[in-house]
Amino acid sequence: MVLDKLGSGLRNTLQKITKAMFVDEKLINELVKDIQRSLLQADVAVKLVFDITKKIKERALKEKEAKGLDKKEQLITIVYEELTAFLGGTEEPFAIPKKKPFIIMLVGLFGNGKTTTAGKIANYYKKRGSKVAMVQTDTWRPAAHEQLQTLAKQASVDFYGMEKEKDPVKIYNSFKKELQSYDLVLVDTAGRDALSDDLVKELKSINKAVQADERWLVMAADVGQTAQQQAQQFHDTANVTGVVITKLDGTAKGGGALSACAVTDSPVRFIGVGEKIDEFELFNPKGFVGRLLGMGDLESLLDKAKVAISEEEAQDLGRKFLKGEFNLIDLYEQMQAMKKMGPISKVAEMIPGFSQIKLPKDALRVQEGKLELWRHLMDSMTKEELEEPDSIRGSRLDRIAKGSGMPASELRSLLKQYKQSKKLMKMMKGGSEKDMQKMMQRMGGKGMGGLKF
Ligand code: GDP
Ligand code: MG
Repeated sequence: MVLDKLGSGLRNTLQKITKAMFVDEKLINELVKDIQRSLLQADVAVKLVFDITKKIKERALKEKEAKGLDKKEQLITIVYEELTAFLGGTEEPFAIPKKKPFIIMLVGLFGNGKTTTAGKIANYYKKRGSKVAMVQTDTWRPAAHEQLQTLAKQASVDFYGMEKEKDPVKIYNSFKKELQSYDLVLVDTAGRDALSDDLVKELKSINKAVQADERWLVMAADVGQTAQQQAQQFHDTANVTGVVITKLDGTAKGGGALSACAVTDSPVRFIGVGEKIDEFELFNPKGFVGRLLGMGDLESLLDKAKVAISEEEAQDLGRKFLKGEFNLIDLYEQMQAMKKMGPISKVAEMIPGFSQIKLPKDALRVQEGKLELWRHLMDSMTKEELEEPDSIRGSRLDRIAKGSGMPASELRSLLKQYKQSKKLMKMMKGGSEKDMQKMMQRMGGKGMGGLKF
């Protein structure tokens, strides 16, 4: 995945939240420091880092939980929202307007990936049913013509170019008529090592000839924080309307380029994540941050939960908890209810706040196995012990462990789980029965989401 290190850093931080018993100022401070460290390591500008963490802290301390969320979920939501805003916010992912032809001109310095990106965009929209043409106006690079032609073949789109012609404007104008019949026209241009007077002049004249609907700056992720300055300069010269950040696969420091551009007037449109023609993604801040944080799709989880655990079952469990009749059998039942939704590992992927617990596959398989182990342990308990787990101490503990053929540590971990669950239930006891039932339904959905496994 792109920005692996940033992602795992942030996921570790969120894991701390889910593991913590309470959300308090200490936890929030720790969270803020962690996020700062992760963002700085990803090369995000210091000022931006402090801006975003300040916002997270202020909101975390001030805001009441939104309906249906507990404190931890609320905190995770704040982090998610602020990171999303930071990377372009609610800006909708780019979509080609109906205008025909829609013309996108690509500009940028040498070697940043313009030509490759032209091929990728062509491929992307061709696959989605657009009639696409590419025009090569780079007369500087001898191989540029052939390079784009090859990409056009790969993407099965039409290619226009004149290998011997040296004037980019002439090239473009000679195809202008034919280009009218396309949905999307991509114009590749020449770069330079820097935004030289020479390049400025060339861009201005080709800009005038093409009259593109959008002008996208193609920039490699490893330019880091200087991305913002570069975007600004190109914006001043060629009225840049969007940015494509390429080579995000090749650097852990791509956070610099991404965030720098997201705060300019030129939003990030696409990202390049590899050399191949389909290693290319529409940039969608929400989805990007979601994946970075390992958040699943809560909606689909809740839908699934609805099927798996009946309302009656949920209410029944809810009532028991409410009356404080919460014992080991109920704990077991709750885990079973969760298991009904499918393999725990699959379910966990969909639970925000759970999915960032990095252990998944192996650990979750262990967890599924644990249900069985705990069943054995429970089989060795007396009715009294099952109903009053707090009475399991000393020689009783040894007896149960021996009787079940299980190590005593396993029994202790089961009891610890029980105690934590009970504590949480007590904390939640303030709510009305209706609230509690609602929550239990959610708990059914979230499984033991709020509890520690
Ligand atoms: P241009 O001079 O701006 O047209 O750049 P090119 O399109 O010729 O690309 C320069 C080099 O960057 C080529 O070797 C590409 O394969 C490589 N490249 C472009 N985009 C990406 C990307 O997203 N990831 C990786 N790893 N390489 C890329
Ligand atoms: Mg090129």
